[in-house]
Amino acid sequence: MPQIIDGKAISAQIKEELQRKVAMLKKTQKTEICLAVIQVGSDPASTVYVGNKKKACAYIGIESLAYELPEETTQEELLALIDALNHNDKVNGILVQLPLPDQIHEDEVIRAIDPKKDVDGFHPQSVGALCIGQPGFVSCTPAGIIQLLKRSGIKIAGKECVVIGRSNIVGKPMALLLIRENATVTVAHSRTEDLKEVTKRADILVVAVGKPKMITREYVKEGAVVIDVGIHRNEDNKLCGDVDYDDVAPVCSAITPVPGGVGPMTIAMLMHNCVEAGTVRLE
Ligand code: NAD
Repeated sequence: MPQIIDGKAISAQIKEELQRKVAMLKKTQKTEICLAVIQVGSDPASTVYVGNKKKACAYIGIESLAYELPEETTQEELLALIDALNHNDKVNGILVQLPLPDQIHEDEVIRAIDPKKDVDGFHPQSVGALCIGQPGFVSCTPAGIIQLLKRSGIKIAGKECVVIGRSNIVGKPMALLLIRENATVTVAHSRTEDLKEVTKRADILVVAVGKPKMITREYVKEGAVVIDVGIHRNEDNKLCGDVDYDDVAPVCSAITPVPGGVGPMTIAMLMHNCVEAGTVRLE
């Protein structure tokens, strides 16, 4: 049977480490860390995500300021709030929950956040810094995957890694992080010809394709490590990933389950970025 990569346990370990660090910062440097979380409208999924982020802050000892704005908020109003938070010295991190209503341009909002407070790692300056190997915030889901691999004792350097998906928040930063860890990286996407031939080369296969159970054992090399980023609800309202777990698990050496794999890591790394924002000056 493969090694089951336990994202629940690893994220709990990271959150405990952060809790100790935050307590120490409070005690020795009188430093308080504060995250501003902005939600526009009342999309139920966003409300759950925002609630989970606030809970994680409370657990770790980070103050969270919640801004719940009405659905009809204008772009100017949102940008004015971000500007005020950029200039508020008490606030270390700013998070705008996506997606935003249609009248607001996501790109402009992301660009308005001070890169020093960009704990989601979505600002072009953060992405550029990652690309050229300079300090900056890294998108939480791919950063969490690197932690999953490292803390599960899986070697990345020199390995053949294939990432399926080229989105700005998962696929692209994932590829850049794997390069930073000295892997040989291929990015496959919707226009890749003969996907199976490409994915079967992977020692480590990261799947962020957004299609429930698309990846079956025909896509996987015997003994590969398989990381499933997808989150979906199946016909029985149960969570499943982009990987057909029951089909793939018997042929791989390690695999992340859904739920309990990549999912819990995203919030843990957001908390990590908040603590960094409160302690490190990113110039
Ligand atoms: P996306 O829709 O932005 O990107 C999907 C990518 O898959 C695209 O780059 C596309 O080119 C590629 N793709 C689509 N169909 C393909 C095909 N048939 N063959 C090869 N490539 C194909 O999605 P995303 O935001 O990157 O998210 C991917 C998945 O991860 C989703 O299921 C999402 O819900 C999940 N997700 C999970 C977390 C988490 O915390 N676990 C965070 C973000 C996203």
